[in-house]
Amino acid sequence: MVIKSGLEYRQSLKQRKRMNIYFMGEKINDPLSHPIMKAAVNSIALTYDLACDPEYKHVMTTKSAITGEKINRFCHIHQSTEDLIKKVEMLRILGQKTGTCFQRCVGMDAMNAVYITTFEIDEKYGTDYHKRFQKYVIQAEENDWTIDGCMTDPKGDRSKRPSEQKDLDLYVHVVKRIDDGVVIRGAKAHQTGAINSHEHLIMPTLTMRKEDKDYTICCAVPADDPKIIYIYGRQASDLRRLDDSESGDIDCGNPEFGGQEALVIFDDVFVPRERIFMNGETDFCGRLVETFAAYHRQSYGGCKVGVGDILIGAAATISEYNGTKNASHIRDKITEMVHLNETLYSCGIACSSCGQKTSSGNYLVDILLANVCKQNVTRFPFDIARLLHDIAGGIFVTMPSAKDLSNPETAKWVKKYLSGVEGIETKDRMKMMRLIENLVLGRAAVGYLTESMHGAGSPQAQKIMIQRLVDIELKKRYAKTLAHIKDES
Ligand code: SF4
Ligand code: FE
Repeated sequence: MVIKSGLEYRQSLKQRKRMNIYFMGEKINDPLSHPIMKAAVNSIALTYDLACDPEYKHVMTTKSAITGEKINRFCHIHQSTEDLIKKVEMLRILGQKTGTCFQRCVGMDAMNAVYITTFEIDEKYGTDYHKRFQKYVIQAEENDWTIDGCMTDPKGDRSKRPSEQKDLDLYVHVVKRIDDGVVIRGAKAHQTGAINSHEHLIMPTLTMRKEDKDYTICCAVPADDPKIIYIYGRQASDLRRLDDSESGDIDCGNPEFGGQEALVIFDDVFVPRERIFMNGETDFCGRLVETFAAYHRQSYGGCKVGVGDILIGAAATISEYNGTKNASHIRDKITEMVHLNETLYSCGIACSSCGQKTSSGNYLVDILLANVCKQNVTRFPFDIARLLHDIAGGIFVTMPSAKDLSNPETAKWVKKYLSGVEGIETKDRMKMMRLIENLVLGRAAVGYLTESMHGAGSPQAQKIMIQRLVDIELKKRYAKTLAHIKDES
């Protein structure tokens, strides 16, 4: 039994060595209690607490495919299409409960992709990466690790290959090979949950050519390696978390939960042999990127749908507070939000249901459908957010601070002129407005909107995959057959 609670997760983070973390020009010594960073820790902690909760453990936990032990699903190597579906359900639940990015899925997706790729590399080259990786998975399961799946390099000049860059460190690469391991240098950008993780699972970011051999490295390093430097990313309205007391809580919209991204710099980090899962096999980079992307594109059919549920709930609540709930156009707009949101969920479920067993034994989602899922995610959350903007009214961006509600000189005016329907506290109306602001413009908008656009690959990446996977010739044959057209040859 290796299910840990949120408290045990927090304690395990405390046990890490002191890390090099910077935020707004300062070194941060205690990220766990920092007012801006702790909201992101709370989100991941919930992935542990729900696994201990009798109401959710049927979704949140499962049996390890390797040891047979009960584990948190975030550490699982998927064994069936049912597992893939449960994963989507789990992410939707967590989206509904946090209203933000809870960060832990990237590692789960990376683990499943590396599981497949190491097996396939071994089959071709007779290497022993898969066995090594299985041992790593057992460690992850037994320690209930949160793993940061590290894929996106800074990329520098996008028109150049990794080895053509003026600065060779713009993609993570091997700078030294020694008998018992390698030394890596470079950085990974926008790393979700990096500072709240136990481990980084590093993967190449694109298909590589022979000349990019040194950039073809997949390996794991502990998050507290002293040679790693973290520079925390800023998010819209993040300083609202520094406001004290209740007014700060109201103004930040989602007082408890938040996401996290950081620039992670690997400044000559040593990686021992047993933690290397790919090293120079350039012909397998494409497969690793494609499978990781497919899993993570599936993930968005769960997490974004859960957050979408909150946007829909906020739209319905604010229409009640505003006195507009019975207007037919409001009802119609909320129905439209539901339709868009459930379409995304359908895509997440569809690519899971059509998943297939791989030669390594785990299950991979249907890649075409996962890409369709993510392509829709680059669009529908923006429409859902637009409808919420419409329903809420402009006051959610022009409203006075909650401090003006507590200042005796202004309180009566704020209370009077920000009131909605009778019987609803002005304070509650303000809280709901701030939640809406948080979801569509503030910190959560990073997770709900910008991440929907760029996370798991920007829209063009999915278009390329869809173009590659669709059988257009077959579709032409269907059309020609019906029209009684016979090709000459
Ligand atoms: Fe998980 Fe969604 Fe955040 Fe990705 S964006 S880590 S799938 S919550
Ligand atoms: Fe993401």
